[in-house]
Amino acid sequence: MPRIEGSRAPCAACRNHHLRCPIDCPLAPYFPANQPEIFRNVHRLYTVATLTGILKYLGDNELMKQEAIRSIKFECHVRRNNPVHGCLGLLRSLEHELNELEKELEDVRYMVYWLRKNNQKQQQIIQDSQITPMPSIGNGNGNGNGNGNVPVNNDRSVGGLSNNGSDLRLYFD
Ligand SMILES: [Zn+2]
Repeated sequence: MPRIEGSRAPCAACRNHHLRCPIDCPLAPYFPANQPEIFRNVHRLYTVATLTGILKYLGDNELMKQEAIRSIKFECHVRRNNPVHGCLGLLRSLEHELNELEKELEDVRYMVYWLRKNNQKQQQIIQDSQITPMPSIGNGNGNGNGNGNVPVNNDRSVGGLSNNGSDLRLYFD
């Protein structure tokens, strides 16, 4: 992260400790003056010595230093919101959410499988009914009260699913 040379406001770390911020302050690139709250939050868990020690350990690897400070800021933010469990609480919460979503996904996959299977059965029934000529039904006698010689099944439901499509639409609305 490039440093702004010349006159600048003391970084949030130095300001918090009422110190003059040297031009080579190791924390200045990561804790700018306009983010005092973020530094105070980090300072609850990490001392300045620990932070500078981590940065020193990472040497000239600027990418690693940025990532380390970003991770520390995130950890401290989570700890502030969940002082008891911190990141572990967040991890468990996300694991629980993931498990619930995986169960839901499994249900949806099963439903898709089941609907496809029923659709195939219905298509087969329609094809069979078109191949086999349907016997004539008496006029106006109604179902189950006709001449009694031709059983007609007007219910094309398969596996309890009506063929009028309204039940299917319930799953897709
Ligand atoms: Zn400073």
